[in-house]
Amino acid sequence: MTYQPHGKHLIAGDWVASSDSFTSQPVSGAGFRVCSGGAAEVDRAVQAAEQAFATYGWTSREDRATFLEAIADEIDARGDDITRLGCAETGLPEARLQGERGRTTGQLRMFAAHIRKGDYLDRRHDPALPDRAPLPRPDLKMVQRPIGPVAVFGASNFPLAFSTAGGDTASALAAGCPVVVKGHPAHPATGEIVADAVAAAIARSGMPAGTFSFIQGTSHELGGALVTHPLIRAAGFTGSLGAGRALFDLCAARPEPIAFFGELGSVNPVFVMPGALASRGAALGAAWAGSLTMGVGQFCTNPGIVVAPEGPALEAFTEAATKALSETGEGVMLTEPIAEAYRKGVDGIARAQGVQELLRATCDRRNAAPAVYTVPAEAWLANEVLAEEVFGPLGILVTATGPEQMLQVARGLRGQLTATLQMDEQDTETAKPFVPVLERKAGRVLVNGFPTGVEVADAMVHGGPYPASTNFGATSVGTLAIRRFLRPVCYQDMPDSLLPEDLRPA
Ligand code: NAP
Repeated sequence: MTYQPHGKHLIAGDWVASSDSFTSQPVSGAGFRVCSGGAAEVDRAVQAAEQAFATYGWTSREDRATFLEAIADEIDARGDDITRLGCAETGLPEARLQGERGRTTGQLRMFAAHIRKGDYLDRRHDPALPDRAPLPRPDLKMVQRPIGPVAVFGASNFPLAFSTAGGDTASALAAGCPVVVKGHPAHPATGEIVADAVAAAIARSGMPAGTFSFIQGTSHELGGALVTHPLIRAAGFTGSLGAGRALFDLCAARPEPIAFFGELGSVNPVFVMPGALASRGAALGAAWAGSLTMGVGQFCTNPGIVVAPEGPALEAFTEAATKALSETGEGVMLTEPIAEAYRKGVDGIARAQGVQELLRATCDRRNAAPAVYTVPAEAWLANEVLAEEVFGPLGILVTATGPEQMLQVARGLRGQLTATLQMDEQDTETAKPFVPVLERKAGRVLVNGFPTGVEVADAMVHGGPYPASTNFGATSVGTLAIRRFLRPVCYQDMPDSLLPEDLRPA
C-alpha cells in the first residue's frame, strides 16, 4: 500500500495536529495540507527530548548502533514511496533520490560502525600518583559525552541526506543526543515518511519516544523557538547565509549561548594552473560545466568561480565551457523562491562593473538555465558581490594576468567549503604557494577533481571558515561530524561503579 502523507507533527511518538497550516508546493501533483507548528509544539518536543536524554544518553554504543541500523532498514522498507514523494516534491530525478537514499542509509550504518569501534570517545587516563611530591596526583579519566537535545534543520537541497534522518540527525543520535527536527517546507511529505521510519525504529529498538521529534512549519518563529529553547544544547543547519546568520545570532544571544553548526554556502573556487590550461583546457572547460550544472547547480559545493591566466590557452576552456553550458538547457529548481533568488543573483552579477556575459538564457517560474560571465581579476577583487554565492548553475570565470594575480584572488577569498587546483606535473612549483593560502580558506583542498560529490568518509571535511560554516573546527559530513554533539568530561577519583559504561573496565 502506498504511503499517504497526513501533514501532522511527530512529537515523542505521537502524530499530532496543530491549528495553523500551509499547503505544500510539489512540482507535480496536488499539494496537501501540512500543520504549521510553533513554540508550543517545540516546547512539547524538547521537554520530551530532555526526558529521553536521561535514558538515551546512557544507552550502550551497541544499542545505539542497532537503533541506527534499524532506522536505515525502515527507510529502505519505505524506499519506493520515499522516491515517489521526493521526486514529486523536489523535481529531482528518480535516480538522484534513490542515490541519495543510499547515501542516507549508508551514513546511518557508517555511524553505527563508528560508535561500535569507540575511537571517537578519545578515552584518556592519568592514573593516581599518591606518592608524588610535593603533591599527590588524583586519578583522572576523560571521555566524550553526549551534550543533550539537539535541534536539526532539514535542508531544501538534500531532501534525504541533509534532512530528517540526514547527517546531522545520524551523528547526533550516534553521539547519544535526542533530536528535534524542523522539516524543510519544500518537501513536507518526504520529511514525514522519513520521520515515520524513525518512529518505527524507535518502537522496534525500545528507545524512549522523545528520542526523536519532527515538527513542520513555515514561520521563522518556529526555527527561532527551537534554537532558543533553554533545553536545546546545539543546532545543525544547512541553508542560506541570511537564515543561518539570524539563527546563529539567536544562539549566541541566549542567556546560555549554544553552538550553532551552520553550513552556509560557498563559491568553491577552482584555480587552473598554466600548464593544465595549455594541455587540457577544453576538457577542463567541459568538466567544469558538468560539475556546475549537476542538480541544477543546487549543491553547496558547486564550483561557482574559476580563476585562470589570460592568454590564447584560455580560449579553448571558455569555448568548451560555454558550449557545454548552452547545451544543458534549463532545469527545475527545488522551490519557486530559490529559482527567483537565482535569477535575481544572476541579474546582480550581470550588472557588476567589468563583467562580460558569455551565456545567459531567459527562464521563468521554477526553472533555471545556466549562465556564465567573465571578469578580470582586478574587477573581481574590487567588488564583494562577485564573491557571494548565487545558488544555482551560475559560473564566473575570473581572468588573471598570471599566477601572482591568481594568488591575490585566492588571498581575497572568504571562507569556503572547498578550493580546487587544476594542475599538471610541470605546474608543481607554481602551485606550491597556493597550498598555504587555500588551506586557510577552505575545509577541503582538491587537486584535479571537481568539488561536487562529497564522499562520506572518515577523512572528509565538509565545513570551513565563515561563511562556509559558523564553526571552523567542525564538519557536517563524515564520521568527524559526531564531535559536534559531544563534550569532554573528566572524572576525578570516581569509583568504577559510578563511571559511564564507556570508562568502566571491560
Ligand atoms: P533558508 O532560507 O536558509 O531556510 C532554511 C531553513 O531555515 C528553513 O527551515 C527556514 O524555514 C528556516 N529559516 C529561514 N530564515 C529563518 C529565520 N530568519 N529564522 C528562523 N528560521 C529561518 O534556505 P532554503 O529555503 O533552502 O533556500 C533559500 C536559499 O538558501 C537558496 O536560494 C540558497 O541561496 C540558500 N541555500 C544554500 C544551500 C547551501 O548548501 N549552500 C542549501 C540550501 C539553500 P522558514 O522559512 O519556514 O522559517
